[in-house]
Amino acid sequence: MPQSHYIENLLDLKDTNIEILSEVPIEHQIIRNKACKVLAARLSPAIEACHACGSLPDQVIKHGTKTSLVKLCSVTGFDTYLRLKKQRYYCKSCHSTFTAKTKLVRKGCVLSQPLKTAILLEAQHIRSEKDIARTFGVSHQTVHRLILQPQLQRKTSFDYLPSFLSMDEFKSVKSAQGAMSFILCDAYNKELIDIVEDRRLPSLIRYFHRYDLQVRKRVRGVVIDMYEPYIQLIKQCFPNAEIIIDRFHVVQHLNRAMNQLRIQTMKKFPIHSVEYKLLMNASLKLSHFQRKR
Ligand SMILES: [Zn+2]
Repeated sequence: MPQSHYIENLLDLKDTNIEILSEVPIEHQIIRNKACKVLAARLSPAIEACHACGSLPDQVIKHGTKTSLVKLCSVTGFDTYLRLKKQRYYCKSCHSTFTAKTKLVRKGCVLSQPLKTAILLEAQHIRSEKDIARTFGVSHQTVHRLILQPQLQRKTSFDYLPSFLSMDEFKSVKSAQGAMSFILCDAYNKELIDIVEDRRLPSLIRYFHRYDLQVRKRVRGVVIDMYEPYIQLIKQCFPNAEIIIDRFHVVQHLNRAMNQLRIQTMKKFPIHSVEYKLLMNASLKLSHFQRKR
């Protein structure tokens, strides 16, 4: 493996068309009043067609470069940038020029996609935007804008529900009311419909009554685990829906029952007996099998 590929791996650069110029030393620069590391890289992919007219590559020639500074996730505590030299092309057929594209960074944007993802992941925790901005060496406004991206803003429409729903619970955030939060999905296309902070029955009944009865009547089936309040919820809110117990939870329930029975049986035998050892071996095999699943 060439030495530069170690650096690409270290920086988690997934685009194989980006080549780190290992012969250029890493620069130490002050950017936005902070000591930063800047690595030189080149983006020069083979072009399959003209981006403007679709002409074949024999009509496209290289036409200079355009350099931009891309901010990556920090390395060893330093803000890290890529000085990316992007190849430009000229099409002899339509006389247009265009620049090589990469998934690392969106057109006209300075922040790399992995950095944006890291910021959004951090934003799931209870931290102020200013605090997150300081961690990632970006402005407070950048964090704010990222969190408020239109594709992350989900508005639930209370006048539609799919024919088959799937309900489950998960631990959301410490501050959530109730130990667990409730998640509602379209059972067919697995798309998230909504999240309800509190999964307790009165809160869920209140939530589903925001949907009109005619909308709730259209639901034909609801996939759930064996949590009793969900069964009551479906009976009260979805008059035409079948209750479908999720296969995963049935198997989980059977496993739990098997384990309880095995422990009860083991307790009947002295610890050094053959029977105890046989049961212990069986339980080890069973837990190994469950882990593999
Ligand atoms: Zn062209």
